[in-house]
Amino acid sequence: MQTKTLDAATIALHADRILAKDKSVAPPIHQSVSYYFKESQEFADHAIEALNTDFYGRHGNLNAARLAEVVAQLEGAEAGMILSSGMGAITTTLLTFLSSGDHVIAQRNHYSATNSFLTGFLKRFGVEVSLVDQTSPRAFASEIMQNTKMILLETPVNPAMTITDLSAVSAIAKAASIVTVCDNTLASPINQRPLDWGIDLVVHSATKYIGGHHDLLAGTVVGSRQCIEAIWGISMDLGPIGAPFDAWLGLRGIRTLQSRMHCHNSNAMDIASQLENSSAIKSVYYPGLKTHPQHALAKKQMIGHGGMLSFEFSGGYDAAQKFIAGLNLCLNAPSLGGVDTLVVQPAAMFRARMSEKDILAQGIQPGLVRMSVGIENIKDLLQDINVSLSQA
Ligand SMILES: *Cc1c(COP(=O)(O)O)cnc(C)c1O
Repeated sequence: MQTKTLDAATIALHADRILAKDKSVAPPIHQSVSYYFKESQEFADHAIEALNTDFYGRHGNLNAARLAEVVAQLEGAEAGMILSSGMGAITTTLLTFLSSGDHVIAQRNHYSATNSFLTGFLKRFGVEVSLVDQTSPRAFASEIMQNTKMILLETPVNPAMTITDLSAVSAIAKAASIVTVCDNTLASPINQRPLDWGIDLVVHSATKYIGGHHDLLAGTVVGSRQCIEAIWGISMDLGPIGAPFDAWLGLRGIRTLQSRMHCHNSNAMDIASQLENSSAIKSVYYPGLKTHPQHALAKKQMIGHGGMLSFEFSGGYDAAQKFIAGLNLCLNAPSLGGVDTLVVQPAAMFRARMSEKDILAQGIQPGLVRMSVGIENIKDLLQDINVSLSQA
């Protein structure tokens, strides 16, 4: 199917149909891990075919391939693959392109597991890592060395919803022939398309907006066919391929991605604007607000500003704790990007594994609350928030 001219809403519904093996409107689940062949030669040819879906389960499966096709087309990429989690996608991608003695430049702020993979795991295997201020393209440029092989980006990054200038950093990387990878989880392919700004590879935790219903764990990476085949080759050895049932749920979820994102964007903007006027709140972090220090950049590179925001209580840790306890609709739970509104107090979450000083050094104020705004009716959400605010 020629889907280049279609809108994202339509791509999400039809892009994978070219891979279908039958005429069912909704895709079946292909749970078999093994496929049989008439002849040995046919068997042998299938065994080495990149990104194949009907040989052995660790090589791939049709549900994962169909979901990968949709994500790839939404991101404007040639190819994609589905991994068992967002971290599976990030680690497999990094392990494909980095060897001992190489250097990678990443951001000081990343998703916490990405950060510990960079500073813990990769260092054990002799990969040098420089972490820079994501808001300064020049900081990336000044860290480039002879052995720099990759620049890893993530934008926006919670909790402060800090933004990286994708076109500026990708131009710097291109001039030095360095591969760029961007974690696009918080924006979703509806709100931001990093490949349009010159980035080489995009990764997502599909557990979040792509799945969208808090019921699956998956990751995805998309980019040129050559890069994706290389990542697939490494995944054959590492074994983190996405499972058929999770991919099937992902495909069901992604059908409504655009409608959901429009609702997330609009609900989050309304909540952010309202919180900005509350006397209990010291500051609100949302890229769609004019007061966000990088609002102009957000407007330039994002199509919508997403469903994630953070806000800091003037009353500190206790006020934030009281606020969360007073909520009824908004659930105090990990993860983000689903239809239900979830809140967390990052300082409370990190207390278990970090000192108070390190938490502050990460820019996490004790009174900060992170909210993943869902698609509930906005009046009901505001009512829940306002009642709890008046008690905090
Ligand atoms: C959740 C998340 C990940 C990790 O994804 P999992 O599916 O939990 O492995 C990576 N990056 C970002 C930005 C995330 O929010």
